[in-house]
Amino acid sequence: MASKSMPSALTFDLEARCSTTKARAATLHLPHGPVPLPIFMPVATQASLKGLTPEQLEETNCRLCLNNTYHLGLKPGQANLDAIGGAHKLQSWPHNILTDSGGFQMVSLLKLAQVTEDGVRFLSPHDGTPMLLTPEHSISLQNSIGSDIIMQLDDVIATTSPDHARITEAMHRSVRWLDRCIAAHRNPSMQNLFCIIQGGLDLDLRRECCAEMVARDTPGIAIGGLSGGEEKTSYCRVVSTCTDLLPEKKPRYVMGVGYPEDLVVSIALGADMFDCVWPTRTARFGNAVTSKGVLNLRHSTYASDFGPVEEGCGCTCCRPKEEGGLGITRAFVYHVAAKETVGAHLLTMHNVHYQLDLVRRAREAILENRFPAFIKDFFGKLYDDKEKLPGWAVEALQGVGVDLMES
Ligand SMILES: [Zn+2]
Repeated sequence: MASKSMPSALTFDLEARCSTTKARAATLHLPHGPVPLPIFMPVATQASLKGLTPEQLEETNCRLCLNNTYHLGLKPGQANLDAIGGAHKLQSWPHNILTDSGGFQMVSLLKLAQVTEDGVRFLSPHDGTPMLLTPEHSISLQNSIGSDIIMQLDDVIATTSPDHARITEAMHRSVRWLDRCIAAHRNPSMQNLFCIIQGGLDLDLRRECCAEMVARDTPGIAIGGLSGGEEKTSYCRVVSTCTDLLPEKKPRYVMGVGYPEDLVVSIALGADMFDCVWPTRTARFGNAVTSKGVLNLRHSTYASDFGPVEEGCGCTCCRPKEEGGLGITRAFVYHVAAKETVGAHLLTMHNVHYQLDLVRRAREAILENRFPAFIKDFFGKLYDDKEKLPGWAVEALQGVGVDLMES
């Protein structure tokens, strides 16, 4: 097992704890500046957020975004990354970057990927030659990328898999691979390695994994393997079980989560960091994420709607011209959504702003100890009728002392 004194390139300042739920507000000091927690991290797949320039992403107050190791490893490739001096320089992004290990992308994108104790075997999408992503290679790539937070290679199994033996094996293998990642990490004083808790929906496996991973003392901890189509009730149980066992003074990252309701509930369950491609992906289908739910602006009812995408929204797209924004109307987005990339571009701007602003407002509410009221207000806007509230959210929030059904 790794030594208890693993170097860390972050400090975690816990600023407030909700007196009702398990929510926390903190500041994470990373090599490229402070990051307020909780945080939603937009996903910039190939070192660019589809539809946004780095300047536009900066304008949304994003201070930590996610890059995919798999994509960067293919293009520009490790030799070019070393020559350029890493991903911050590649995309001229002065703020923080988190990279995934590359394993999940391979398993999900490449049908022929195969997991063995060595690593993930796959065929090169370029020329079909057999390749192997090991824990050591993943860390080496992430060291070349220079990201502020790097993720261990883990063995990811769909939570919906019926194969319990395989889920157990994957959890134990993920612990063994963490040890190999720790040993391979060349830059622990500048890059923070996060472990990933696995164990499917089995709470005992999750508990065992928490104990093993926490003992390795990595600077931060992720809860992985979720958001893969499992029931939301099971998702909440896993998150809540893990946060109860994780050290209070380390950041907790739930991977792949991004629907607004999931963010608010997961924050209440004690999670701090989230990422998801959904807000940017759904923008390309003409969908605007708003406090009243998702609106599809390709629908003809918006053809003569001259209001902003969301009333009162402070994003560059919605803000009126006289306040320095673009003053874009729903009618304009409707008009261009089907045929012009500018429609997707504008909605990406709005959706990323919505997500970041939602967690920022949640953070303010936690700091002012009014988070339960924030949760009720959020769900009240989304569901005008209490009968329509999702049962999983009602149950999970009841578990942390917030009753959405009470008037
Ligand atoms: Zn907006």
